[in-house]
Amino acid sequence: MKTDSLSDLRQRHRGPVIGPDDAAYDPARITFNGMIDRRPALVTRPLDVGDVVAAIGYAVESDLPIAVRGGGHSVAGHCIGDGGVVVALRLMHDVTVDPEARVATCGGGALWEDLDPPCLRHGLATPGGTFGDTGVAGLTLGGGIGHLIGLHGLTLDNLLAATVVTADGEVLRATEDENAELFWAVRGGGGNFGVVTDFTFRLHPVGQVLAGQLVYSTADAVAVLSKWRDLMQRAPDELACFGFVARSSVSEEEGAIVAVAYFGEDRQEGEELISDLLDDPEPLVNTLRPMYYAELQEIFGRMPFGLRNYWSGRFLRELPDELIRLAADHLSEGVEGSIMFEPIYGAAARVPPEATAFAGREAAYNATFLGVWQDAADDEQRIASARGFTSLLAPWATGGGYINYASESVGDGLETEYGAERYARLRDVKRRYDPDNRFRFNHNISPD
Ligand SMILES: Cc1cc2nc3c(=O)[nH]c(=O)nc-3n(C[C@H](O)[C@H](O)[C@H](O)COP(=O)(O)OP(=O)(O)OC[C@H]3O[C@@H](n4cnc5c(N)ncnc54)[C@H](O)[C@@H]3O)c2cc1C
Repeated sequence: MKTDSLSDLRQRHRGPVIGPDDAAYDPARITFNGMIDRRPALVTRPLDVGDVVAAIGYAVESDLPIAVRGGGHSVAGHCIGDGGVVVALRLMHDVTVDPEARVATCGGGALWEDLDPPCLRHGLATPGGTFGDTGVAGLTLGGGIGHLIGLHGLTLDNLLAATVVTADGEVLRATEDENAELFWAVRGGGGNFGVVTDFTFRLHPVGQVLAGQLVYSTADAVAVLSKWRDLMQRAPDELACFGFVARSSVSEEEGAIVAVAYFGEDRQEGEELISDLLDDPEPLVNTLRPMYYAELQEIFGRMPFGLRNYWSGRFLRELPDELIRLAADHLSEGVEGSIMFEPIYGAAARVPPEATAFAGREAAYNATFLGVWQDAADDEQRIASARGFTSLLAPWATGGGYINYASESVGDGLETEYGAERYARLRDVKRRYDPDNRFRFNHNISPD
């Protein structure tokens, strides 16, 4: 019966269907985080919505759980699951742009570097993350913090519509008017509700940006990051700045860093805004210059697949000097990693918290420890360093952390993550669209 339905699937599914004996199986198991080593029952690579429906039908008939893969960048490795059917959407990455209406639609397997260029040819973009090779899907479903956050909000704030294939094989359109609860839930609830086969976004004009990085010595971290924090408290939406303290032999970074992107038309105004950051202390490195958005999206380089990663953090009510000091001290004590502070401000902060399922709207900052290393022998120590930093954040935390950066499956802790009311609403949606929890390789909202 099971074999019959697998051969049925192979008949109906026009994209590759990869099993453990196939040459393509091991490459299909590789994800961003080199710590993840999981063995799914099957990897399907659909060409279209019909293939996705067939793959889901097979999984349900065979009583197997389903993992969904967009860009494969989940640090928790949620795009792949032991013993499950992986619906790997990378072959569905087509993009259409309507420059007049200022909307773009991309397939559920698109990366930002698929979506951005055809939009940028018209001088348009939707807010994405800061790395072009991450998936549009996972990033959007969990939030989407990037350079355009101040001007235009999170990525999910710009989502106009999504097509969702649910566990019973229904193909649903989710918008503010159609299946509105589902549309609310996919904007922050992750991949809990089905396979999103396409996303439609609102686009905005983007021209040249004054952007680059200011690098200081770690000893100056408190002086510089407290100035940066004060600047962000009064910053216009056009100014996006992220603060870091880093000590990493993998990325060869060391020091306090402020990454700057000023989207305003008057470059001089941008220079005046950030002038405080240019003296006392003076940056050791200053790479600020005008550039186009496509280049800005490459400014942090690439983080290659295969390195070992453990990321952990919290949304914060505030970022006092004491906490900046704790972050700098944490890295001075022989610990390696990058600590990233992202302000949640401007357009993102003006969206009412109940408008989407995103959990960090009440916070002023997102703080994350990014541990990246090569040697498995260092796993224990590196994971302890990341967790140690997260425990320091407790007095200032609004609740949980940003699910898109979490290395651990949050699962039981999701009520803290989302808050009781939002979590209850998410569970109602989960019960309605995935009552058997077929989609469980994610920060799992339990229907039970
Ligand atoms: C190098 C790097 C840089 C990053 N930079 C940023 C950043 O600047 N801003 C930011 O906000 N985040 C950033 N992130 C975090 C990023 O948002 C998450 O890793 C996100 O999960 C990546 O999406 P993906 O599609 O590549 O992931 P995947 O691993 O493919 O999927 C992640 C989750 O989404 C689900 N999913 C994926 N596709 C679909 C789909 N089509 N339908 C339904 N469910 C789906 C999966 O089942 C899984 O649970 C970064 C991560 C990395 C590793």
